Amino acid sequence: MAKLALIRGLWKIMLLVLVLCFFNYWGAGFHWWITIAYPFFQSIRCWVFDFIPFSLGDLFYILLGLVLLVGLLVALYPVALIHRYKQKAFVRLGVFMFVVASSGISFYIYFLLSWGGHYYREPIGKTWGLDTSLKVNLAVFERDIIAQINTLQPFYRSYGIDRINEVSLKNYEAFTDCKFNFKGHAIKSSLFGSYVDKMGIEGYFNPFTGEGQIGKLVPTSILPFVISHEIAHKAGIAREGDANLVAYAICTQSDSTFRYSAAMDLLLYVRRRFSWVDSTAESKLFAQLNTYSRRQLDTIYKYFDLSKNAASDAGREMYDDYLKLQQQKEGIRSYGNIVADAWRLELRRKKIGVERVKLF
Ligand SMILES: [Zn+2]
Repeated sequence: MAKLALIRGLWKIMLLVLVLCFFNYWGAGFHWWITIAYPFFQSIRCWVFDFIPFSLGDLFYILLGLVLLVGLLVALYPVALIHRYKQKAFVRLGVFMFVVASSGISFYIYFLLSWGGHYYREPIGKTWGLDTSLKVNLAVFERDIIAQINTLQPFYRSYGIDRINEVSLKNYEAFTDCKFNFKGHAIKSSLFGSYVDKMGIEGYFNPFTGEGQIGKLVPTSILPFVISHEIAHKAGIAREGDANLVAYAICTQSDSTFRYSAAMDLLLYVRRRFSWVDSTAESKLFAQLNTYSRRQLDTIYKYFDLSKNAASDAGREMYDDYLKLQQQKEGIRSYGNIVADAWRLELRRKKIGVERVKLF
């Protein structure tokens, strides 16, 4: 029995190596997976899961956590009573650890094949032909963004999640080459409620069920952008910086509320960068922002303050390590690539006009 389990474990490791080789070296096969296999698989997941108003992925995580906890307690119980169980206690603990490791490999293989393989794609900016040699002029960029926000602000309307889902789905149909139709509840409220927000997570994608979730308290002014970002993950954009770029490219072609949301989210990143370089000049520029939007930004900063806690810091570090393991050398800082990418995209648009957003 133990021998059989060991052989099965070795087979799984070999399969994992094969899958990793597939994504790393088999160019033609990888292209087929991106353009045909993944869209087909994700279409089925959207067809099944997007009709359900709550997150099945969150339920799966809760169940998985419970199973692990019960399994650990059952495995540790004999160790606590070592005088009675003797060597048997360590055998049972060893079996538990083996089952966890073996299941972990199975989950990782499924993760890669069902979505994670997208981490091995080239950055989307490169696919679009953005000129990476162009350096951002932060002062000009912040001035332009503020001017844009001031123009759009009177037309901004606060949308609820259903309305944002509805407009986002139309946006993906109209402005991208998305190969599958999302249905109804494209992005759902997280079952973990405000704990998600307190962990510093605005939204997250579940690679096992292909569902996107958002936090309970995300400020409405940036919600259209956050939801567009999570839908980008569903569409097969894995890198965080790329999901931001795709969300930006789509929102800026949409209605005033979505354009406003994209500009507000981008302003957060550009402000931070420009403040590091020249905080006095940044403050002068920022004073030109209208009062209503400034109040909305205050709400966003208060929202960010919710995640100033040790648990959130630890979670952020873990996510940074995870991203670095997934071909993203910059880790969590890759979100900020949106500053240079959006600048380059706008320069390109000035030259050749607004293009259809390529996801594949
Ligand atoms: Zn993301």
